[in-house]
Amino acid sequence: MKKIASISVIVIITVVLIFAVVYFVGKKDKSSISQSKKPVVVASFYPLYYFASQIAGDKMEVINIGRGNDPHEFKPSTKDVVTMHKASIVLLQGAGLESWGEDLERQLEKEDALVFVVAKHLKLFKLDEYAHEYESDKESHQHGSHDPHTWLSPVLAKETVLQIAKEFEKINPQNKEIYQKNAQILADKLDKIDKDYKNALANKKCSVNEALVSHNAFGYIGRRYGLKMHPIAGISTLDKPSAKLLAQLKNEAKEGVIAILTEENSVKEYAETIAKETGLVLVPINTLATGVIQNGGDYIDGMYFNLESFKKAYGCK
Ligand SMILES: [Zn+2]
Repeated sequence: MKKIASISVIVIITVVLIFAVVYFVGKKDKSSISQSKKPVVVASFYPLYYFASQIAGDKMEVINIGRGNDPHEFKPSTKDVVTMHKASIVLLQGAGLESWGEDLERQLEKEDALVFVVAKHLKLFKLDEYAHEYESDKESHQHGSHDPHTWLSPVLAKETVLQIAKEFEKINPQNKEIYQKNAQILADKLDKIDKDYKNALANKKCSVNEALVSHNAFGYIGRRYGLKMHPIAGISTLDKPSAKLLAQLKNEAKEGVIAILTEENSVKEYAETIAKETGLVLVPINTLATGVIQNGGDYIDGMYFNLESFKKAYGCK
């Protein structure tokens, strides 16, 4: 009886092996080009491109579809959409950052393509939590009801990095250990950034606790490190300030604010006008979204560039 059982097992294994060989050889013949190619990852904008590239190392091809554009304003071309349809996975920020994101997500899901929407996997701030600090003309632009700027928080960025690594493991399990190791290196850097922000921006080290800022992109940082911010534009760079809000912002100058954290974008002229009229200092800040970072730096350099800017704007020693 035992002998018969073991013969059956051998027969089954042999049959399975033959099928496997036929299947894989057949598959290789059919699509040898794509078999030899690396999996393709498409990111909607620079921070996700940076995270994905660091995690993937040389094991995947990572494409930044947003290139150097402001993600609030960017729209992909037909060619970009085709690229996304062909990708092994598409990384989107979500929560309304990409005005085209939800449509694309629906299309890709219909095709059973893999989409990872960062904002769906994090605890986000609701925008009405900002309402008491901000009012603007919101008719010009539609966005979600939550703050999408999670990449500017080292804590949320770390969560995202570890989650993306898990997605990559699913697509390409043979390189699982490499993705885990690379993700951990990046996670450690983000832990260090969090610690450095905490130390540098600790209450007692700063002389001011409020500043003006180009648009409402730094809410996660403000909350975590105790920095109060008055945004000129709204949660989107397309949400421009009302005359009433501009007047309120100018008044802040009389109440101890010393600086305007100023981005290189469409809001800059408002910042310059307020500075001219109030004597506030313009301190450059970067949302890191376009990937154009001071001194040719990367995301990590940009996070430290911003830390120096916060120290200046809040008078921290
Ligand atoms: Zn923004």
